[in-house]
Amino acid sequence: MQFSQVIGHKSLKEHLAQSIIQGRVAHAQLFLAKEGCGALPLALAYATMVNCTNPIEADSCGTCNSCKKMAQFIHSDLHFTFPTISPAKQSKEFISEWRNALLSIPYMGYKQWLQNIKAENKQGNITADETRDIIRRLGLKQVEGKFKIQIIWGTEYLGLGGNILLKLLEEPPENTLLILIAEDSDKILPTILSRTQVIKIPNYTAFEISHALIELENCDASKASQIGSISSGNWNIALNLFEQADNDLLQLLKDFLNGCLKNKDRKEFLELIDKLSQSGRDPLKMFFEYFLMILEKSTVYKYTNEEPPVPGDAERIFIVKLAEKVDSQKINILMDELNKSHYYIERNGNPKLVLFNLYLWVRNCLG
Ligand SMILES: [Zn+2]
Repeated sequence: MQFSQVIGHKSLKEHLAQSIIQGRVAHAQLFLAKEGCGALPLALAYATMVNCTNPIEADSCGTCNSCKKMAQFIHSDLHFTFPTISPAKQSKEFISEWRNALLSIPYMGYKQWLQNIKAENKQGNITADETRDIIRRLGLKQVEGKFKIQIIWGTEYLGLGGNILLKLLEEPPENTLLILIAEDSDKILPTILSRTQVIKIPNYTAFEISHALIELENCDASKASQIGSISSGNWNIALNLFEQADNDLLQLLKDFLNGCLKNKDRKEFLELIDKLSQSGRDPLKMFFEYFLMILEKSTVYKYTNEEPPVPGDAERIFIVKLAEKVDSQKINILMDELNKSHYYIERNGNPKLVLFNLYLWVRNCLG
């Protein structure tokens, strides 16, 4: 993977590329990011550029032998460690599943990976044997690259076995690069944290997600903006929403609010309730999340007067307009009801009852 293939994170990518060009490659680094925010793709792009024989100013070349092998994750100086399940003990026993996952879902989270290797209810783990194997293979000379690179994805899963790595982190063999990747630094041994250079990767912004949906998934701009705003900066969530998103959420919300607040066409409103309640659990939850996001941004706009940070113009205008109706106390009640609606649908509540209940609260709070 190259930096140009990683979604967003423009300035961070430039910073990482510059550090390689200037020869400032710290031997033990921790890439820290929430799920779906690109830590693994960034680490792969970084590793690719480190071993590229012909790097350009801000990226690997993508065409040299090293880059070609790195793109398929088969470079002999690139090693992976990741959580696995019993009875297999070491990462190498899952290497083909791992390579396939990197090709198809490089932004995956731990749960997604463990589902991929059919962990079912088993806990993921990085064993002490695997950790000892890291020390052994990094002790060997590199085969073809400038650096021998070990990526540890899921540093949280090292547990106390991580102590085995302390000496390696402190005094690594020459030309060795250890990239640890984690989502939650609180779950990592402090002794490991203190021996790594931490690269904090921010969550994706709604703009980055929306832009990537348009570029990579051919999503139309208004839908991309809606999904960008409710995906919590997580590219995996964004992709899931994109697959489910048949509806124009903004139009749906406008129709729903009009139906709740204006008493003109009851038949049309009842049809909308029917349509929504038959749309399925996930689309309905998505509708509630979108509604919540709009209310939240309207409230913020009302009290700060700051331009709502959403990618779409139509949404921005709607948020500003809705802010006129917002009353802080009532809006809290409505948001609370929306969260409850989400909860009931998640637990198989009757969609029609949930929607009619919400209708009453909308009339009460926004009417
Ligand atoms: Zn190259």
